[in-house]
Amino acid sequence: MTVAVIGAGVAGAAAARTLRSRGVDALVLEASEAVGGRTRTVGLEYGAADSGAIFLMGSYDATFRYLREAGHEHELRRWEARAAVLDGDGDRHPVRFDRPWTFLRLPQLTWRDRRRAVRAIGALAMRRGPAPFDTDELAAVDDGRTLAEWARARFGDRVYEYVVRPLMGPLTGADPETISAAFTIALLGRVHRTQLWVPPGGLGQIASWLLDGVDVRTATPVRALEYTPDGMTVHTPGGPFDVQGVIVATDVRQARELLDGVVDSSVCAALDAVEPVPAYHVLLGYHTDPWPDAGHDLVVQAGPGQHHNYGVLRNSRRAPYSVPPGGQTVSVYFDRTQAPDSDEEQVVARARAAVDRAFGFAVPDFHRVFGMDVALIAPTPGHYEAMRATRDAMPSRIRLAGDYLSHSGIEAALLSGERAARDLLAAGCGTAQHRDDPRGPRS
Ligand SMILES: Cc1cc2nc3c(=O)[nH]c(=O)nc-3n(C[C@H](O)[C@H](O)[C@H](O)COP(=O)(O)OP(=O)(O)OC[C@H]3O[C@@H](n4cnc5c(N)ncnc54)[C@H](O)[C@@H]3O)c2cc1C
Repeated sequence: MTVAVIGAGVAGAAAARTLRSRGVDALVLEASEAVGGRTRTVGLEYGAADSGAIFLMGSYDATFRYLREAGHEHELRRWEARAAVLDGDGDRHPVRFDRPWTFLRLPQLTWRDRRRAVRAIGALAMRRGPAPFDTDELAAVDDGRTLAEWARARFGDRVYEYVVRPLMGPLTGADPETISAAFTIALLGRVHRTQLWVPPGGLGQIASWLLDGVDVRTATPVRALEYTPDGMTVHTPGGPFDVQGVIVATDVRQARELLDGVVDSSVCAALDAVEPVPAYHVLLGYHTDPWPDAGHDLVVQAGPGQHHNYGVLRNSRRAPYSVPPGGQTVSVYFDRTQAPDSDEEQVVARARAAVDRAFGFAVPDFHRVFGMDVALIAPTPGHYEAMRATRDAMPSRIRLAGDYLSHSGIEAALLSGERAARDLLAAGCGTAQHRDDPRGPRS
């Protein structure tokens, strides 16, 4: 055994799979009691619920390549994301979240707005734009403008408020007024590939599939890293592991903590500068579906003003595994900074109010609250270049993997894990010259 992978989210799982495919045994150390990280699907009284990630996008080339190779692609289910845009007057307008151009039907837009948007999006789709999760390519198109600045200049204010913001706010979980325009430029260049897909048993299956056959120790948090003459020691409460190389595949805050005093302070400073978005996901459950005839599954807000949640999602069509027979579950996602001091009761009340507005009043029979300190990241202008430099400044025995290296998303995590593993192998880690006991920590 030569390489330790810290974290069993998609990034760590992809790193471990890549190492294994090159004949190197990876030992995956995961702090929590199950794998998946922010894609984890957790057991419920009635089936299972996706605690974090909701879908895969058709433009996730690396993820689909892997799913094809592993024979799982055909198992995915397409989700027609029938949605409604809730405007400032409380009116609902039907759109498809997986067909962004349907937002151009909104009555708030003029024909001139629509023509200008079609031309601008067409121009982006015609040229080969950046890949949406390639740090280097995103860095190259990040010209310092925020998404709001770029979109208002390119499409005008109304298209920004009624198309770009209601689409990209929920998709990125970040405020378009602060994040870089680069990711949206990349996605609009692939506007024809926005179909959405869900594994049959939940998003957690992606990490589980990737980790098939890999040695994973759950409930094994890594507390510290240390250099040794031959490699590194990874310290856990159960004892140390001597390894040849390490892939840190945790969220950005945990990575920063583990690397403190181990790598150059510029790396820590760059990780400190990444802005995490803390979020709540509130799952409300109903034994009987209160809205059996609802034509749409998702409600997003549009128009000028504050938007208090990313989206309200009825799960029965997207994730039937999360719904009691004849019943319904609804997921409400919102930025936790909007409710910093709320206790669970207040958080649930906030979610219920959002559901009442979106679908109509109903009293839930059960609920679960998933609170995340680092749900997503808000890549401000300059983020991608900073991450490119940070990734390249890492010592050869320690590589970083994680969504924050480009832009939050399963594809980003998977790509980062594959790359970290390749870089570590290229640096000579994983060769036969150094052999450790793979079975347990050193006593
Ligand atoms: C509410 C929500 C909705 C989302 N929706 C989507 C979506 O629809 N589509 C999409 O593509 N993406 C979505 N995302 C983003 C996506 O889930 C993440 O970008 C991706 O899963 C991040 O993977 P990761 O492996 O980089 O990090 P993580 O999933 O955070 O994995 C890190 C792992 O490291 C472990 N860890 C941390 N510290 C230690 C330690 N000291 N020792 C050992 N282990 C440790 C953690 O327990 C965790 O398992 C969503 C995220 C959230 C929160």
